[in-house]
Amino acid sequence: MYELLMVLLANNGRCIYCNEPSQVMDHVIPFAQGGADSLTNLVPACDTCNNLKGDKTPPEWFMSIELRDRWCGNNGAPQGPGPSLRSLYEDTHHQCLDILDRIDEVLAEIANPRRRSWFFDRYWHAASRPPRWRIAFWRGMVAEKAQEAEAAGWPPLPPPPPPKRYRIDRSQIGRLLVEIPPDETD
Ligand SMILES: [Zn+2]
Repeated sequence: MYELLMVLLANNGRCIYCNEPSQVMDHVIPFAQGGADSLTNLVPACDTCNNLKGDKTPPEWFMSIELRDRWCGNNGAPQGPGPSLRSLYEDTHHQCLDILDRIDEVLAEIANPRRRSWFFDRYWHAASRPPRWRIAFWRGMVAEKAQEAEAAGWPPLPPPPPPKRYRIDRSQIGRLLVEIPPDETD
């Protein structure tokens, strides 16, 4: 679960493809194409983009929709005079490189060891495969804290306080346990 939060809240909690709030983890290289099910291959996405992308890599997906919709329209027939398929391809190529840059940035954000520890230390205990409503609940609860932590440079958890120690106070009738002050040595 902490890994899910780490991915969903990267990129300011937005879908990497369309900038809507993220809902799921998207495999950059699709699982069906042999992509790893690991944090080096997972980015935040919305349901819609995740479904539309399906079993394609980001360049395959982007090229296919751009070239089909902008040059051909949805029925596959070229749309009158306009940019050639070649110039449209070159144009799309540059936009596609921008998307790949963004993916690299977000994967680097997710790999940041300080950020990773921050999520692990606080949320390692949460269920690993929670139902969707619980994901939305956790996401909402953690989003603001994560933003503050990012601004503070992902501070580590403070060390736990030392355990309390007691001694038996024999001056009392009955034996009373008295707490030993933390600064007192034996
Ligand atoms: Zn999206």
